[in-house]
Amino acid sequence: MSAIAFAGQPLDRADHIRTDPARLAALRTSDALLLRLDGLLPEVGDLGELDWMPATEAGADAELVFLGLRGAQGLFAAVPTTGDPDPAYAHRKTWGAIAQLPADDLAIFGAARSVLDWHARHRFCARCGQPTQLAKGGWQRDCSACAAQHFPRVDPVAIMLVECDGQVLLGRQARFPPGSFSALAGFVEPGETIEEAVRREVFEEAGVRVGEVRYIASQPWPFPSQLMIGCLGHADSLDLEIDNTEIEDARWFTRAEVAEALAKGRESTSFVPPPPQAIAYHLLQWWLES
Ligand SMILES: [Zn+2]
Repeated sequence: MSAIAFAGQPLDRADHIRTDPARLAALRTSDALLLRLDGLLPEVGDLGELDWMPATEAGADAELVFLGLRGAQGLFAAVPTTGDPDPAYAHRKTWGAIAQLPADDLAIFGAARSVLDWHARHRFCARCGQPTQLAKGGWQRDCSACAAQHFPRVDPVAIMLVECDGQVLLGRQARFPPGSFSALAGFVEPGETIEEAVRREVFEEAGVRVGEVRYIASQPWPFPSQLMIGCLGHADSLDLEIDNTEIEDARWFTRAEVAEALAKGRESTSFVPPPPQAIAYHLLQWWLES
């Protein structure tokens, strides 16, 4: 499987430094770097890479997240004072950066974006309502009023190809561009295994009963904090009963149709595939080759 966007974090997350305030403070005043951001949008430098400035330029009261070590150098990012008002994945600047950034930088940006957005939206304790303080190098927030500890969220989403009779089931939402189809997906709910979430989502959206489910690959998706868990499920019937409140359409596609879509992209006559930045694209590629 080719490289998955936002995966492959190159930094040493250095957990032992997160828990050592003296080392963190020393790191901040050395040659550490601070990620340049416009809110939660990435600033891309002249070389098409993430842009950095000396960490010493951060405001005295700025909340800094320790992203990790690159060699011996500490990399940090400052928590913006507000969360992103728009769904950032829809922002032209985000897509421009995603298309442009090298894979390592995209992984660094994704982790930073996700944890910074969490800080910006969790300034108050979910238990008692009092202000919380950044802790553990930015990988925790503490409430001094009730001693609650809060941790950055990761929200699991099951995303699945369903196979039957040599064909694969894909769906489209009304917001998709014309002709686009992608893998069905849904949040894993409390009390569910990944396999159970796959079966429930496919039945809810397309009326298809899925038996065996197999894990294929995953992708961190930082808008704001999903972990996309890519699976392959097997169905015994091609019959569909589409729930139009969830999806606009769902169809079975042959290998030839999927091959044409991946080869021709927007010019394809079968369907327009998901973009290569999405794990659904890689799942389809994997399915074709398997
Ligand atoms: Zn509290």
